[in-house]
Amino acid sequence: MATDQLLLEVKDLKTYFFLDEGTVRAVDGVDMVIRRGQALGVVGESGCGKSVTARSILRIVPRPGRIVQGEITLHRMRESKNGRTVTEAVRLTDLDPMGVEMRSIRGAEIALVPQEPMMSLSPVHTLGNQIIEAIMLHQRVTKAEARERAIHMLDLVGMPRPSRTIDRYPHELSGGMRQRGMIAMALCCHPSLLIADEPTTALDVTTEAQILKLIRGLRQELGMAIMYITHNLGVVAQTTEDVIVMYMGKVVEEADVDSLFHDPKHPYTRALLRSIPRLGQRTRERQRLESIRGSVPDPYALPKGCSFHPRCAQAIRGVCDREEPPYVEVGPAHKVRCVLYR
Ligand code: SF4
Repeated sequence: MATDQLLLEVKDLKTYFFLDEGTVRAVDGVDMVIRRGQALGVVGESGCGKSVTARSILRIVPRPGRIVQGEITLHRMRESKNGRTVTEAVRLTDLDPMGVEMRSIRGAEIALVPQEPMMSLSPVHTLGNQIIEAIMLHQRVTKAEARERAIHMLDLVGMPRPSRTIDRYPHELSGGMRQRGMIAMALCCHPSLLIADEPTTALDVTTEAQILKLIRGLRQELGMAIMYITHNLGVVAQTTEDVIVMYMGKVVEEADVDSLFHDPKHPYTRALLRSIPRLGQRTRERQRLESIRGSVPDPYALPKGCSFHPRCAQAIRGVCDREEPPYVEVGPAHKVRCVLYR
């Protein structure tokens, strides 16, 4: 990949939580690359490490969690003294999470749209004041200019009557409007990477469709990359070009969306695909949608070998319960972590 295409590199990332009950290896050796302008989906059940990976990138892992190994590098573009555009690699894992540089990267270069806006918005400040504050934190503008920009961003995300809505408090807005407000706040400094962490989970189906359409449109208009975290493969199909499937802190399959949907390799990916309804599927067929058998293992006592083996219909006794499966290439940019492809 040309270096000017590279935006974010994650190498052998391990983020663990140290609790009285034991150690949870929430992210356990994750590698990923995000290109400029790419839409990458990160999929898996709850507790598979998707959100902790995102929080590790943003350096906001809550205690008692911490990054214990690995590198996260942001490749930023900047103008050199002689006016040429050059790329500069910033090792995020070397920065103080609360230091000036990391705080300026968070929001200005990498922004987050969370799952539940009410958890991130302050209930005692208007939506506008919160967006204005975010703009003034990262850009040298007057309050009046920041307000103008905030209204423009609210307009861009399709907020009805933005010049009035800006003065509303979060509790006065619907769920969809709050999420549009969060997206406006995330985009106000034109980040090169937007991390959307299950941004539509708390919304009804119609509003979800509107927000997905909005995110697709904004990505094209603003040319930013998106890391879209979801448990829903249907959402990935509509929103992204490439997908990473995670299970128990590890990436178990990665491919472009077409390959993943038409030729999934990992038994877990296949099970995930069998559990989503498809367009045109009849009601009786829908009733036969399979849930993934078994349940997610105890994070304090992960099974030996492949952590999916207690749930895998193709597990090979004496192999899958003993050996760590290798991560092998099965096609162009298609990789899978499973002994069946060794
Ligand atoms: Fe199933 Fe074995 Fe492959 Fe794991 S390594 S997914 S248990 S076949």
